Amino acid sequence: MAEDSIRLVPITKPAQISRRFHVDASRLEAVAQKYPMRITEHYLSLIEEPDDPIWRQCIPSVDELSGAGGTEDPLAEERDCPVPWMVHRYPDRVLMRVSNQCATYCRFCTRKREVGDVRKFVSQNAIMRQIEYIRAHPEVRDVILSGGDPLMLSDRMLDTILSGLRSIPHLEIIRIGTRIPCTLPERVTENLCRTLKRYHPLYMNIHFNHPREINDASARACGLLADAGIPLGSQTVLLKNVNDSPKVMRELVQKLLRIRVKPYYLFQMDDVTGGQHFKTRVETGLAILKEIIGHTSGLAVPHFVVDTPGGGGKVPILPNFIEELGRDKIVLRNYQDLKFEYSQPSGKAPIPIQVTTGKIGRHLAN
Ligand SMILES: *Cc1c(COP(=O)(O)O)cnc(C)c1O
Ligand code: SF4
Repeated sequence: MAEDSIRLVPITKPAQISRRFHVDASRLEAVAQKYPMRITEHYLSLIEEPDDPIWRQCIPSVDELSGAGGTEDPLAEERDCPVPWMVHRYPDRVLMRVSNQCATYCRFCTRKREVGDVRKFVSQNAIMRQIEYIRAHPEVRDVILSGGDPLMLSDRMLDTILSGLRSIPHLEIIRIGTRIPCTLPERVTENLCRTLKRYHPLYMNIHFNHPREINDASARACGLLADAGIPLGSQTVLLKNVNDSPKVMRELVQKLLRIRVKPYYLFQMDDVTGGQHFKTRVETGLAILKEIIGHTSGLAVPHFVVDTPGGGGKVPILPNFIEELGRDKIVLRNYQDLKFEYSQPSGKAPIPIQVTTGKIGRHLAN
């Protein structure tokens, strides 16, 4: 086997699910026609029984076709594309889509409109145009390689992209967003790590959603990446009947730290067509945070964010720990729900904290 190509033998047909789990998956054929199915042997092996938290993430469901609501492009990414596949939404950073393939397709994916669609292949030319866009825009100091999954590309292609990016003097940091250490951990090889470590400062955010995704194989992959000096963060999507309980989420964040991954973001599920059955109420996420903050290491606490429909970007939300914010003192509630006071020095508040009626975002304005 060539060092930089791991042979993928993914499971792509509902009939394979029928055989493997002795269930009738024939109703899922139509779903997989619309939204492709692909599951690695490793990820499939984590399923313990039908409809468990791993199953729900990767096996098609008829709810994908029947659930009304949501939009194809909930974050309005296509509107913020200065060149094809690149999303430039924030002042100093951009998101590149370098592949529309993933090792395992998540049924709740925000980019269901394009991932796995063979007609929407990202060409090498399209990648080069994105790199040239960054070269022409000195305000961009941070780039995120996303997709699909960037680690679906060969080591050689990654090397070409990373060296192109590193030839841009104003680009300070490079980030890779990937689910490979979780779904196809054997893709993380010595050679991949040797390639990546030549392009520091390089950060990686890994998509993990459930404690069962953390095992010897994913721990080995993360260990290799961390040993290559890559700071590892996690991105987790809050999903109904997958990880929407404080107990599961606390176990996940603690296990992540043990494999050297710092919880970064916990995402409210995007309002995507075909993913409505995964949505939870925002209060669920707040309740989870309430049971993590203070109860376990601050290192384990992710930012809980809603990526706003219509392209407003990510907005962080926190449970309320402020009981009263007064002129002379602030009254706080700690993790045990006990009240404590802190006396404020006299003087004017530098930033008046008040509820304002902000301008209505583009999404609501039209
Ligand atoms: C999430 C995201 C980023 C990165 O956001 P950070 O808060 O810096 O991690 C950049 N661009 C787009 C379009 C994004 O969706
Ligand atoms: S790994 Fe990310 S891009 Fe790929 S299917 Fe899952 S959520 Fe979508």
